[in-house]
Amino acid sequence: MRWSDCMNTKFVEEFFGKREFSRDEILKFLTENNEKLKCVGCGRSLIDTIWYLDHYPHDGGIYLKEYGRRMWVYIHCEKCGYETALWKLVRQYEVLETRKRM
Ligand SMILES: [Zn+2]
Repeated sequence: MRWSDCMNTKFVEEFFGKREFSRDEILKFLTENNEKLKCVGCGRSLIDTIWYLDHYPHDGGIYLKEYGRRMWVYIHCEKCGYETALWKLVRQYEVLETRKRM
């Protein structure tokens, strides 16, 4: 487990203000913001590509209730094959929202 993984997971937990997540609420967040959030690989907005949410067991990831353990959560982009970690998408969202307030 890398230290940076833990830090990025902490960022996601603090952003949502919780430490346990369900797969559905993450999907909801990504779907509701699919015009703003982008695949890091090809730069397409999520609304302009086909993607799916996936995860694998990882002690440095977020806790997913359905699986009863920490998972590394990411989206797979069908257009370019890149896998964008959830924390990068949350960071994109945060940057956009912060700009809006300034
Ligand atoms: Zn892509």
